[in-house]
Amino acid sequence: MAKIVGIVNQKGGVGKTTTAINLSACLALEGLRVLLVDCDPQANASSGLGIARDDDRHSVYDVLVGQAQAEQVILPTEIENLSVLPGSKNLTGATVELVNAEDRALRLRRALEGIQSKYDLIFLDCPPALDLLTLNVLSAANSLIVTMQAEYFALEGISELISTLERVRAAYNPDVTIEGVLLTMYDDRTNLAQQVTHTLREYFKERLYKTVIPRNVRLAEAPSHGKPVALYDVRSRGTEAYFELANEFLARNNMESPRAKARKAAASQQPTRAVRFWPYH
Ligand code: ATP
Ligand code: MG
Repeated sequence: MAKIVGIVNQKGGVGKTTTAINLSACLALEGLRVLLVDCDPQANASSGLGIARDDDRHSVYDVLVGQAQAEQVILPTEIENLSVLPGSKNLTGATVELVNAEDRALRLRRALEGIQSKYDLIFLDCPPALDLLTLNVLSAANSLIVTMQAEYFALEGISELISTLERVRAAYNPDVTIEGVLLTMYDDRTNLAQQVTHTLREYFKERLYKTVIPRNVRLAEAPSHGKPVALYDVRSRGTEAYFELANEFLARNNMESPRAKARKAAASQQPTRAVRFWPYH
């Protein structure tokens, strides 16, 4: 049964989509079966994985309003184990269209119930708002990753996110937790970044990931080629950072990827060479 992880922050441009794409891709490359659900009308997670914009194609919108089943809408990507439930600009309309639906905050959760057994992990990319779409993500998720930039106002808005989360817990989803807080676009040369990191560590404690994502131009370029950074430039710092995050994520969840298992098995089968002393016989 897939764990469902929402990637949230109502602040815009803090690396949610970049993290959704690249964490999903790294975990899929490690052999896990991953689905990325693009809940943002900007549909950047879809285009960043090479899904060209097509307003006639079904999207999460059709699933939320009950016009399609999730499995009819899911598309494959260049990475074998990674699928996408694409977003579309129609999603903006869902908020209005569902206004009178009693279960409007639970549409995504219900839609994912039927496909949860087909994946190991389902990531949900959010729009930069605490709107009905994000509410659906908070209600469907088992846990959340909050992405942040190490800037002076980083914590601004977090109290609003946390109070929304409290309301979601009370009304729909008692068990949802923040499993990790990730610093993105990090530049450790600045004192400010170090100060902000210190403050965030005091606030979030061990929930702040040890891995930080550096500012790396390859991460910004990759989406225009429709590729996660690991396929665009495997040797970049961005690729290295997201693989490190994938490993930290797996370790925190006590999960071992199929590739890690295979590496272990291969290592244990290496014949141990007996030490021989000269002259050989
Ligand atoms: P929105 O709230 O609009 O959905 P977001 O939180 O999803 O934004 P992204 O789209 O991931 O944020 O990132 C914002 C911009 O910063 C994008 O142009 C992206 O390519 C760039 N970017 C993200 N992370 C990095 C990074 N580590 N290094 C360099 N550029 C980055
Ligand atoms: Mg985004």
